[in-house]
Amino acid sequence: MKLKEIYAKNNNFPVISFEVFPPTYEYTQLLDEIEILKKYNPGFISLTCGAGGKGSKSIELLQLIQNKKLNVMPHFTCINSSKESIENGIREIEKLGVENILALRGDIPEGYSELNKKDFEFACDLVKFIKEKTSLCVGVAGYPEGHIESPDLKNDIKYLKHKIEMGADAIFTQLFFDTDKFLAYKEMLEKNKIYIPLIAGIMPIISKKQVEKMTSMARITIPEKIKNKIDKYATDNKSMLEFGITYATEQCEKLISNDTIGLHFFTLNKAYSTSKILDNIKKGG
Ligand code: FAD
Repeated sequence: MKLKEIYAKNNNFPVISFEVFPPTYEYTQLLDEIEILKKYNPGFISLTCGAGGKGSKSIELLQLIQNKKLNVMPHFTCINSSKESIENGIREIEKLGVENILALRGDIPEGYSELNKKDFEFACDLVKFIKEKTSLCVGVAGYPEGHIESPDLKNDIKYLKHKIEMGADAIFTQLFFDTDKFLAYKEMLEKNKIYIPLIAGIMPIISKKQVEKMTSMARITIPEKIKNKIDKYATDNKSMLEFGITYATEQCEKLISNDTIGLHFFTLNKAYSTSKILDNIKKGG
């Protein structure tokens, strides 16, 4: 099913989706985790990619997830790639019956400069290319606090709008810990006449290291009230995990009461926290 149809369904509960990444360990472990998550009836599983957007390893995993009768949305990056390699990658994905793709620029590789620019500079170039060549539905990334390279949110939204003009069908946000920042972003997009589905990215906190890593790579505010807890449970894994579940549950409840159309969980390839959060919100709803 296409993103357009998935988010057009008139449910009174948001569409749930799960993000996983190709692990360096055996796939069976990840497939077992996905089996646990399957019972929450996800709209789809999104599968991240490395630089270049493809790789036989990801294709093999994509098929294994499809074998579970689950819809898969592969991520696809374009920076540093030629038109030919992108077209080959997309065709390969299309042949597998995939209907949706997350079109990304990707992070700028080390040593990349004006001199070795290839065919795609920004995600909007990839969106345009995919829309011209295929009938895939296209998701794009959005940043409630602005992308790290962007001077400000206003500028970032200007380019987000450009991705939509090129044909993007849905926006998947960067994770956030300050739910009000997402709600303010939602309002700003509406003011900018951006009406395609805006899907909230939720990452349950599992460790201090994980939070530090994420917030060093992107603009993500950590509200004071959770900073203290993250410090408090820095060496107490069990309490940190439970706190992460409680906090993300609160985030989801607030998002649901503010009519959020989709909740996209960055699962880190583990079902435990995400399934607990979903048990909590389904009980409440
Ligand atoms: P763009 O939309 O191209 O934006 C990049 C920057 O350029 C922004 O600052 C923007 O404001 C600016 N910009 C955009 N268009 C223009 C223009 N026409 N002129 C001037 N400036 C412009 N990375 C991976 O490698 N693999 C993944 O699987 C992956 N999955 C992700 C999933 C989600 C939900 C999110 C939010 C991010 C993901 N990323 C992934 C990270 C992403 O690749 C990086 O954040 C990357 O730095 C930007 O990608 P983008 O598609 O947002 O780029």
